[in-house]
Amino acid sequence: MSVTERLILAVEKPLKEAIWGCRMCGQCILHSTGLSCPMRCPKNLRNGPCGGVRANGNCEVYPDKRCVWVDAWEGSRRLPLWRDHIEHLQKPVDWQLQGTSSWINLVNGRDGVAPKGWKPDAES
Ligand code: SF4
Repeated sequence: MSVTERLILAVEKPLKEAIWGCRMCGQCILHSTGLSCPMRCPKNLRNGPCGGVRANGNCEVYPDKRCVWVDAWEGSRRLPLWRDHIEHLQKPVDWQLQGTSSWINLVNGRDGVAPKGWKPDAES
């Protein structure tokens, strides 16, 4: 890891952990999830909630916690520029990026690389 990446991570990690509970997946989609980090979902779902959301909006796995996707939907309604981004189909998580800087991965395009053979439904 380069010195530059270490410096960026030293800023990005504590900042995003404090604000969004970031799990450092390295492929940030907060703009598509109403600023609710999808990696806080115990099932790591990045395309909406599972079928287990409780009637009160809480998580199936952690009944005392709110479903991150309920927060995502509500948050997306408050983001005029990114309001429709919640409808974007997200590619599978690339776990090789875990712990790396999403800021760097955004700039160099690494976070946009999908697994070979994967295509969103709209393109298949
Ligand atoms: S980088 Fe990944 S884990 Fe961190 S806030 Fe963004 S989506 Fe969540």
